[in-house]
Parts: sequence; structure tokens; C-alpha cells
Amino acid sequence: MTHSAAINASKPCFLVSLDFELFWGLKDHVRLEDYSENLLGVRKAIPGMLSLFRQYGVHATWATVGMLFYENRDQLFDALPSLKPAYVQSHLSNYSHLSDVGENEDSDPFHFGASLIRKILDTPSQELATHTFSHYYCLEAGQTVETFRADLVAAVQAAKRFGVTLKSIVFPRNQSNPLYLRACSDAGLVAYRGNAPHFLYRPNSSAKEKRSYIKRGLRLADNYAPIADIGPQSPSHNSEGMLDIPASRFLRPYSRRLRRFEHLRLHRIQNELEVAARSRSLYHLWWHPHNFGINTTENLSFLERILEKVAALRDTYGMTCPSMAELAAETISHSAAGAK
Ligand SMILES: [Zn+2]
Repeated sequence: MTHSAAINASKPCFLVSLDFELFWGLKDHVRLEDYSENLLGVRKAIPGMLSLFRQYGVHATWATVGMLFYENRDQLFDALPSLKPAYVQSHLSNYSHLSDVGENEDSDPFHFGASLIRKILDTPSQELATHTFSHYYCLEAGQTVETFRADLVAAVQAAKRFGVTLKSIVFPRNQSNPLYLRACSDAGLVAYRGNAPHFLYRPNSSAKEKRSYIKRGLRLADNYAPIADIGPQSPSHNSEGMLDIPASRFLRPYSRRLRRFEHLRLHRIQNELEVAARSRSLYHLWWHPHNFGINTTENLSFLERILEKVAALRDTYGMTCPSMAELAAETISHSAAGAK
């Protein structure tokens, strides 16, 4: 069992974390031909998001799959860890789908992302974080903490190619395994995105998740109406020295089918932001760049409405927009000051 202690931040804060994975996060359940438009659209969506983050002073955390950090196939294959996860459901492993990796980012924009990583790093105050090296699933049967450690070592090496020391992690499919937090802190990480404290958002293995029709339906409805009220949230330290920065909400992409309800979706987020600001707590929004890969204009303009609200709350309540690593550094220095 991990022990944790909630921390009250002195100022309300708004966090954004992005699970940047291109096809590596989807290969086990989506066909490329069905999703290539979203994935190609990422190359427009990321610059659009970066420009909004710069304009509104948002220090976003880009949790990036390590396999995206390479310029070509040879470099990537040289960087693969020798110890690999042996999931019982072997199709979950990205190592079982390596034969379809192309030569480089020009010829295969679905498996390589170095030019996009450079754009993120060229934008002020963005944090490059990890989404593990191989889009690793910590709650699936067959893998072990040793193979997870090997994955993290590869992720750390990948980031070093860009001169980045990793500080934060987002677990793929939000499968945060409390038993693996020690491995994260041993790899130099200090923060992770936990799950919203509500049964609808409790992480599952992929098999269980597939069967959870009702849960998935309620999660969809929760984007438009208050189904799961999670209340004010705070980060908390656990005994492994990692800061749990819980997610508040997945930012659902624009849907043409549900466009009549867009105002409800926006109000839901604006209200939650208001509650977080008034209670000096945190609001943590997350999504994938590929969610903005289609309907990019609508998605970016929806994001801008959110950021306008955040700007108003900054003026009224002093809401800040730190990255996960910045929030971790702040809370550690806060706790140290409090302990004196
Ligand atoms: Zn993912």
C-alpha cells in the first residue's frame, strides 16, 4: 500500500497534460487506414496548441512515447531495450508490430515524431515528459516491474537525445500501478498523473475496460452534465516520493454528431474551473494531440474558450498554469518550508 498526503497549494492551478503517442498508442486496437487522418492532422494540431499555450502562458506537459524520439528506423531499433514486456495478450505489445515501421519521419509520419518534439521544445515553458518508451501497460497480465524498469531506462535515454531530463510520467491508458512508483522515482521521475477520484475513472486492464459499456456511457454523458462530481482536487505525495497530480477531466474532442451540446460541454469545464479557482485547488485537463487531428479548427477554438476562462480566473483568483514538473518542484519547496 502506498501512503499519501494531500497538499494544499497556495494558489489555484490549471494543468494541461497531453498524451503524445501518434500510432504507438493505438496500434493494438485501431487500423491505420481508419485513423490516419487524425494522425496526420497532429502535425497541424500541435503547432496550433503550442501557439495558444504561448499566448495564454500555459506550461503544458507533453507526455511523449519514447519510440517517437528517433529520426529513423535504424536509430529506433538500436534503442530498443533488451528486456521487453511479455503481455498475455501479445498484441498489446508494440514490439510485436515493429515490421510496419517505415524508414523515417518523412516516409512514415505515424511512427516518428522528432520534428514535432523539436517544436514543443522551441516553445517557452513546455515540459517534455514521458508516456513510457513503448506505450507500456502497467496493469496488464504478463508484464513485470523489471520489464517496466527497462522501459523507463529506454525512455530516459530517448529524452537525453534532446538534452531533456524527464521529470513526469503519464501512464498509458491511465494504468497507474502503485507498485511501480518506486521504479519511477528510481528513474528520476517526480510526478505522475493520477486518476480522477471517482469509480468511473478508476483504471482497468484493457479486457475489463472493453466490457464496461455502462461505465463508458456514463463517462460520455459526464462531459455534458454533472454525473461524476469529483469536487476540489489537490496533488498528494506518496511514500515513493512521487507527486500524484490527479486528472480532472479528459477533454473530449469536438463531435459533429453532438455539436448541439457543445455549449454544455464548455459550461461543464468552465464551472469546474470556477470551483477549482474558488477553492484554491487544481484543475487538470488532458487529451491526446490526435484528438485534435480532425475538426482542428473547432477543437482549437474550444480550447481557446477554456483558456479565456483560465485567464479571467488568473486575474480574479491568481490561478497559475504550471507544468507537472513545476508543480512538483513548488510543492516540494513548500513542504520543505513548512517542515522548518
Ligand atoms: Zn496513450
